Amino acid sequence: MKLAIVVGHNARAQGAVRPDTGETEFAWNSKLAGLIEDEARLFPQIKVQTFFREHCGSYRREIEAVYGKVDAWGADVSNELHFNSHSNRAATGTEVLSSGSPTSMRYAQALQNRMGEALGLKDRGVKIRRHERGSESLMSGRAPAVLIEPFFGSSPLGQAKTDEEHEQRALARSILQATQDAFL
Ligand SMILES: [Zn+2]
Repeated sequence: MKLAIVVGHNARAQGAVRPDTGETEFAWNSKLAGLIEDEARLFPQIKVQTFFREHCGSYRREIEAVYGKVDAWGADVSNELHFNSHSNRAATGTEVLSSGSPTSMRYAQALQNRMGEALGLKDRGVKIRRHERGSESLMSGRAPAVLIEPFFGSSPLGQAKTDEEHEQRALARSILQATQDAFL
């Protein structure tokens, strides 16, 4: 099965910054995408390709362009990588956004379970997004889509669980395990 990884944000507007390392969502998740591709060697039934959003002045066109590429590749499912951020440093936990379709929901719940095991952060649950922030990414493509927010970059707890490479690898592996759980 074919898993499309979409790195959230773009090189021009890189999203939230985690204050502990200064990394943006775009930078941190570009690295995570590489680790997912690397760990996919352990999951021979899953073919992974990474897709990047490209700034073009229109948010809608940016999203439609990248999900057009995801569909042209023939993805069975897509997963857009983000991390959360809040002015309150106490805000913490793992959540997954879903379009609400049965396949997206099944994958979202598998991710919520596996990422929860990997990170051990508060379970904020699966959230259906049809109109609010993130919904374009969930609704644009043909393939079932999810958007993950594994941790808050603004949270000392979230930072501590994701600042070492072995932790990032465990998160990458949990995403592949969830893909296996939901589709294989
Ligand atoms: Zn984001």
